[in-house]
Amino acid sequence: MHWADKIAEEIIASKEYKPYWVDDMKTPSGFAHVGSLRGPLIHSVIFRALKDATKEKVTYTFVFNDFDHADELPPEFKEELKEYMGFPLRKIPSPKQGFNSLGELLADDLKKTMQSLGVEAEFLSSWDMYHQGKFDGVIKEALDAAEKIQDIYERVSGSKKRQQGWLPFSPICENCGKVGTTKTFAWDGKEVSYKCEPDMVSWAKGCGHEGKISPFGGTGKLPWKVDWAAHWKVIGVTIEGAGKDHASAGGSYDIAMELCDKVFKFPKPYKLPYEFFLIGGRKMSSSKGLGVKAHDITKMLPPEIARFVFTRTNYKEQIDFDPVETMAIPDLFDEYDRCRTAYVDGSDETLARIFELSQIRDAGAKKDVFLPRFRDVANYMQLPDVDLTKKFEEVKGGKLTPEETEILSEREKYAKVWIEEYAPDEYRIKMSEGLPKEASKLDKEQKEFLSKVVGLLESGKDAETLQQDLYKVAKEGGDVKKAFSAIYLATIGADHGPKAAWFLLSYPKEKVIERLKEASK
Ligand SMILES: [Zn+2]
Repeated sequence: MHWADKIAEEIIASKEYKPYWVDDMKTPSGFAHVGSLRGPLIHSVIFRALKDATKEKVTYTFVFNDFDHADELPPEFKEELKEYMGFPLRKIPSPKQGFNSLGELLADDLKKTMQSLGVEAEFLSSWDMYHQGKFDGVIKEALDAAEKIQDIYERVSGSKKRQQGWLPFSPICENCGKVGTTKTFAWDGKEVSYKCEPDMVSWAKGCGHEGKISPFGGTGKLPWKVDWAAHWKVIGVTIEGAGKDHASAGGSYDIAMELCDKVFKFPKPYKLPYEFFLIGGRKMSSSKGLGVKAHDITKMLPPEIARFVFTRTNYKEQIDFDPVETMAIPDLFDEYDRCRTAYVDGSDETLARIFELSQIRDAGAKKDVFLPRFRDVANYMQLPDVDLTKKFEEVKGGKLTPEETEILSEREKYAKVWIEEYAPDEYRIKMSEGLPKEASKLDKEQKEFLSKVVGLLESGKDAETLQQDLYKVAKEGGDVKKAFSAIYLATIGADHGPKAAWFLLSYPKEKVIERLKEASK
């Protein structure tokens, strides 16, 4: 049984988590790292498993915590937006056109990636919910229970950081607009008194303003652990997982669960602590700006294969995806194809289910489809004059259907990316550093041909024209194949290689000319 179906079964059998409301959230403070896709995809898979297992209504929401303050900025906007550190993300201007704020820009970026991977959540904004007054009730409950909240922090986390007179609310400073620098010191049941502290945090300086304001309707927000639990009650969440970094014993997930139960008197959601998604063996945190962004994943993999990375692995297991200079991507395609076969012929229930849950929409009919193997596509497409369709019709032993042709052209697109950016060197056909020793095999006619190629290159043609001209000149000498092999002997040390004109033009002209001159001596 697939892990998501097991969870769905457990949730339904418990009768505790009704109505079924799956939720996840994220603070849009930077272009999200690819690792942050694990949460939305785990929730998406569980959402689908629940829908398949019950006739009752299942809802999936995804909250952007866009009321949160900025305590870091995307590196590319750091200089431009530095004066906005400490502001709510929705009050920081967007550095790109078409968005009203930085928060909106960053949320939209992640939302588009999630949607392209088939995440079917309804998207909500914290900022909007606070401003619609939906948090007014929980704000009052939290302010009235400030001592109890501190008790829970202490008891669950074991920390002794109790502050005299602490209140769980951060107003937006009416003078400078920051929300990350304010501290509330009094609550009279109607209004809070606060100070915008110059030295409370290292990443922003408060203006020193003191004010008194109603805490309702979006004038400020709850601190994040309280805010997390408050969201569950406001939205009606019954199922919400959390990444391992929040889910350690006594960590923020545990604290939010206790606050939900004891302060907001709302049933704790179904708990689901999940493991990390690592790229290149390291946890590449978005705060360090390392590695791949969420929006890069669909440039690397077709959407359903990207989704497959998450659906096939149990949420309790770490995913180590290391695509650089490895066979991880071709292996992934092979495994996906195996799951597709299982789906069609019914040979393995779990693999078939993985395939089904990896689809962006529905899995379609269970019919046999010829799948061109990804690594073969990558290999053949680098060879000269190989017509991929013809080649795979040979492999299949028949004409490709329109669906198969579509699969082939998608694989061709991603194979090109793999070859250019990820493949190990031995899989990539590229010009050698120095003149290859195989170039000593060149005979007089081949050397003459190379001299003529130099002339063609110097005249600066586009690839299409150059290819035709190369062919013309090669034909004049009689043996076309032998002429072309001269190009490959001189550049990659083999007697065949990628389509010549495109290959030659993919390097700086001077470098290629120098090489061909050297080889034709
Ligand atoms: Zn201020």
